[in-house]
Amino acid sequence: MERLEKLLRERCPELELRRDEPMSRHTSFRIGGPVPLMALPRSEEEVQEILSAAALEAGVTPFFMGNGTNLLVADEGADLFVVKAFHGLNRLELAKEGEWPGRRTIVAGSGVLLSQLANFAMEHGLTGLEFAQGIPGTVGGAITMNAGAYGGEIAQVLSSVTSVSLPSEELIRERDFQFSYRHSIYQERQEFILRASFTLEQGDPAVIKARMEELAAKRKEKQPLEYPSAGSMFKRPEGHFAAALIDQCGLKGFTVGGAQVSAKHAGFVVNRGGATCADVLELVDRVKEKVLRQTGVELEMEVKVLR
Ligand SMILES: Cc1cc2nc3c(=O)[nH]c(=O)nc-3n(C[C@H](O)[C@H](O)[C@H](O)COP(=O)(O)OP(=O)(O)OC[C@H]3O[C@@H](n4cnc5c(N)ncnc54)[C@H](O)[C@@H]3O)c2cc1C
Repeated sequence: MERLEKLLRERCPELELRRDEPMSRHTSFRIGGPVPLMALPRSEEEVQEILSAAALEAGVTPFFMGNGTNLLVADEGADLFVVKAFHGLNRLELAKEGEWPGRRTIVAGSGVLLSQLANFAMEHGLTGLEFAQGIPGTVGGAITMNAGAYGGEIAQVLSSVTSVSLPSEELIRERDFQFSYRHSIYQERQEFILRASFTLEQGDPAVIKARMEELAAKRKEKQPLEYPSAGSMFKRPEGHFAAALIDQCGLKGFTVGGAQVSAKHAGFVVNRGGATCADVLELVDRVKEKVLRQTGVELEMEVKVLR
């Protein structure tokens, strides 16, 4: 990692690099020990340099992240070289009018927040991203996770993705994203998503705005947004809702250390203050065990654990 840091400082003197960076500063859960090295690229050129340097250092594992809203990091940290897209890579523009009447394409950098993207679409009278406004991730994280809510998901609106693989090959995908529920091909590939295009239909800005406000109000009413969390802890099991199963097992409010099954929404595990990763993982194990015993349904974590 030290050699990689030296190489990056030589090749990319402007690049923001942080050593022994606590991941609790970069996750919405506010949990996680340090990673030895983190890079915060501000341009696509910096990403290319980072990946070609990382490829030269055998034994270094790069991990790509966005806003850290779907991550749980071990208390002792993780031996990873983290490349975070959130700070830079925030290009957001309307592409030239294409061949489809009544449709327009937005190009967004991987570090753009979904809320910014959804608002941009609304301001340009484009419909299809209303569902995304309240999801606190970035474009890169949302594509990787095929994020979705209230009947919408990224797969419905994404038209192309430009990514870079190690050492620095640029790839453009317009299909074969292998989308399924909270899954895309990017979960299996070591590719950094640089930017993406979303093709949307023309709509009425007032109607789009009203729908976004309606969904934001629903989130506020149903979700414990006042506490740090990583959103829904578990994937939706086929034919069930994780929150309903957990509630049915009497686990609302169940607590281990600083971690708690939210009393407001049983699908969320919240950090009530000072929760450790160990608290969360123990709580998750106990919830899974009880739900399996009482309902026969096996819960699977949606949140990614780094250790
Ligand atoms: C309060 C709250 C509400 C939420 N509500 C929802 C919801 O309604 N629906 C939903 O689907 N999710 C929801 N989430 C979860 C989370 O916001 C989404 O999964 C989001 O898409 C994660 O984006 P991120 O940028 O934070 O990604 P991260 O958490 O940083 O990373 C997630 C995954 O994406 C990968 N990744 C990130 N950026 C890149 C990149 N540039 N290139 C390659 N790989 C990358 C990471 O390696 C990791 O595998 C919620 C979370 C919270 C805290």
